Amino acid sequence: MTRKLIAGNWKMNGSLQANAQLLQGVQAGVGAPRCDVAVCVPAPYLAQCQQLLGEGPVQLGAQDVSAHAFGAFTGEISAAMLRELGVRYVIVGHSERRQYHGETDQQVSLKAKAALANGITPIVCVGETLLERESGQTELVVKRQLAAVIHDNGHCISEIVVAYEPVWAIGTGKTATPEQAQAVHAVLRAQLTAASQHADRIAILYGGSMNAGNAKALLAQNDIDGGLIGGASLKAEDFLSIVAACP
Ligand code: PEP
Repeated sequence: MTRKLIAGNWKMNGSLQANAQLLQGVQAGVGAPRCDVAVCVPAPYLAQCQQLLGEGPVQLGAQDVSAHAFGAFTGEISAAMLRELGVRYVIVGHSERRQYHGETDQQVSLKAKAALANGITPIVCVGETLLERESGQTELVVKRQLAAVIHDNGHCISEIVVAYEPVWAIGTGKTATPEQAQAVHAVLRAQLTAASQHADRIAILYGGSMNAGNAKALLAQNDIDGGLIGGASLKAEDFLSIVAACP
């Protein structure tokens, strides 16, 4: 079993002043956490947050990366650029990027590959919509999304982090029950085990309205190795209580 990871996804929130205040609060209260802790911040603030986080226990993450190494890709940010800014994790395939930017499984997989090639851990998001869940397709969808990443990254698949994020639970206040989440995590673990001898090293995070109240029960599940936290990562106190809920 791997050390748990609690990663905040700030999404498109923050300002120079708000970030400084939030990170000051997080760093003041985080102490020596029992789990790994990271914040995935908007790209323009990576340099600021790198400086504020310094060598402390909270690590720096980004929210997206280009699948390309360099060149005529206006607006994109390469993994090498992220690396230069001290980025340790990058979210790929978040449902908001799949939904609003049309990202395909194949593109997500190539983004994960670019991150891995630069020593950055991709947090690969998978998850079904409400319609897909209600039509019994949850397993099919998450397995298809993960299969693409395994296909292109098989040799170093044990270096990724997976985040199961049911789309219907993101930002809605609806959380998967610990049993619902565990059932999908077990499916993902079995798929990873078939692909790698080191699947037990791969952290599978749950994301979707995780908060101070529900974190403990979710994190107690066998195959839930941490959380990807959206809304609750924007308040130091809420984020820290999730970190503290890690067994
Ligand atoms: C997310 O966007 O990754 C997420 C889990 O959001 P929230 O916690 O707000 O549901």
